[in-house]
Amino acid sequence: MTVTPPYIGRFAPSPTGPLHIGSLVAAMASYLDAKVHHGSWLLRIEDVDGDRNVAGADQHILASLQRCGMLWDGEVSWQSQRGELYQAALARLGALIYPCACSRKEIADSQLSLTGRQAQALIYPGTCRHGLAPGRSARALRLAVPQTPHYIASCSDRWCGLVSQDLTDEVGDFVVKRADGFWAYQLAVVVDDGAQGITDIVRGADLLDSTPRQLYLQQMLGLPQPRYLHVPVVNNELGEKLSKQTGALAFDDGGAPQALLQQALLPAARFLGMELQASDLDAFWRVAVPAWAALLAAHETPN
Ligand code: GLU
Repeated sequence: MTVTPPYIGRFAPSPTGPLHIGSLVAAMASYLDAKVHHGSWLLRIEDVDGDRNVAGADQHILASLQRCGMLWDGEVSWQSQRGELYQAALARLGALIYPCACSRKEIADSQLSLTGRQAQALIYPGTCRHGLAPGRSARALRLAVPQTPHYIASCSDRWCGLVSQDLTDEVGDFVVKRADGFWAYQLAVVVDDGAQGITDIVRGADLLDSTPRQLYLQQMLGLPQPRYLHVPVVNNELGEKLSKQTGALAFDDGGAPQALLQQALLPAARFLGMELQASDLDAFWRVAVPAWAALLAAHETPN
C-alpha cells in the first residue's frame, strides 16, 4: 500500500504511568512513520478513563518524549476536555444507541448458558436491544451492530495484512458510554481521530482487536477510514503485554541522554527490527528514519 501525503499521524498514550519500553516502541513507530512520510505527528493524552489516570503521568510522558527527541506538532490535546465532541457523536449515532442494564456478570452468565463455556471476550447477547426489562435501570449506552446481514469489518493493516472480524458474531452491540459515566475508549478514539484529521494510525498490536469496532464506528459517523499499522507489542517474561499492571519499568528517570539512548531508544528500535548504531540522540534519529523506511518496504502488503 502506498502512503501518499498529506499524512497526519498521532501518538495517543493513556496517562496510566510514565512511558515504559513498550509504550516507547509504539511512540517510536508512529513518530518514524510520520517522519518518513513528511507528515505531522500529533500528541493526544487519552485520559478518558478517569479511574486509571495517574496524577502527573501526562506531564511525565510529555517530558520523556521531549527528552528522547520526539517532538510533536501543534498543541497537545486531552480527551477529558473533549466531552462535547463525544456527546455530539452520540447524537449523530441516534437510534443506533440504546441504554443497557446488564452487568458484566450477567453477560458472562448468559454466555455460559448459551455455550456451556465462557468465551474469552464477552459477546453481548442483545438483552436490552429492544428496551429495558421492567424494573431495570440503564447502566451503559451501547451501539447496535447489524444482525442481518452480519457486519464484517475489514481493513488491510500495513504491517499485519488483512484484519477482519464478524462484529455481529464476535463482539455484538458494544459500549460507547460506560456504566461509570466515562466515555468508552472506542468512541473517544474514533471521534478524535476523525476530528483531528488523522490519516495514519500506528500503534501496538494489542489494539488490533479494537480496530474492527473502530471501523464500524467510523462508518456510522461518516468519517473517513485511516490507514492502520500495528506493531508487535513488548511482552514480559510471562508473555503478558508490558504495562504498569504487569510491572513495566519506566525508562526515563531524568538521567543522561546517553542512558536514554543505550537503555531505551536503541533497544526499542531493535525490538522493531532495526539494528542501529548511533553515538547520540541526533545521530539516532538520522539513522532511524531511513531504517524505518527500509523496514516498511519489507513489511507492507502490496496492493
Ligand atoms: N490510549 C491507548 C493506549 O495507551 C492507545 C490508543 C490508540 O492508539 O488508539 O493504549
